[in-house]
Amino acid sequence: MAIRYPLDPAGADAAAVRDTLRARQRSLADEIAATRGTSEARGDEVLDQKDEATRREFNEIGDAEVARDVGELREIEAALRRLDEGRYGLCAACDAAIDPRRLQAEPFAVRCAACQTQVERGRRR
Ligand SMILES: [Zn+2]
Repeated sequence: MAIRYPLDPAGADAAAVRDTLRARQRSLADEIAATRGTSEARGDEVLDQKDEATRREFNEIGDAEVARDVGELREIEAALRRLDEGRYGLCAACDAAIDPRRLQAEPFAVRCAACQTQVERGRRR
């Protein structure tokens, strides 16, 4: 049975997507907490050796991981919001229907492949 987008917020398909997104949200929040804890612990250990540069380096690795996770969390929040608005499955940037295969692979996708590519290019610049 093919899923039709945008999803009806009251439908069973929307409920399943909501569960998937919430579960991912929880595991990301755990990951962020764990990464923050690890980089602080590592930093303290290195601080005893009075090596500021190394300590900074450890924290930056942790920060990059946290930044990536926080970015994904925001996407998930946006996807959940769009789900409640009955707009899940439509591109947040251009309103075109997002490829259902893309949504199955990445349920938090809020943009179509073309718009997502543009956003990622913009970030790298
Ligand atoms: Zn688009």
